[in-house]
Amino acid sequence: MPTIFKRIIDREIPADIVYEDELCLALRDIAPQAPTHVLVIPKKEIASIDALADEDAALVGRLWTVIRDLARQLGVAETGYRVVVNNGLDGGQTVDHLHFHLLAGRPMRWPPG
Ligand code: AMP
Repeated sequence: MPTIFKRIIDREIPADIVYEDELCLALRDIAPQAPTHVLVIPKKEIASIDALADEDAALVGRLWTVIRDLARQLGVAETGYRVVVNNGLDGGQTVDHLHFHLLAGRPMRWPPG
């Protein structure tokens, strides 16, 4: 059973896609938790941080530079932002396809909930 993100990558269901290249996709979260809430996902099906293979290291590095560039393009790099990756049950992960939440547009609190 493909995850919702795999179905978005395959264009089976619509999404508000803000960036795409051969390795990854960025889309606006359907239930935004901040004025800017974008999900950056690899096209490769990787379930979570815990499911990463050593050979995925370069891909993960690429995701970070995409996040850096997107934050600039979305106009939040100067004011600041938070990047969150939930892993597993206690981490609050609900979709089993690796994704980075890029959250911005309001002050973030610490510690997180
Ligand atoms: P997580 O709880 O870390 O697994 O994050 C999953 C995120 O995916 C949540 O913030 C959801 O709001 C978001 N989400 C679920 N379905 C969709 C969708 N169809 N389009 C965009 N975002 C979605």
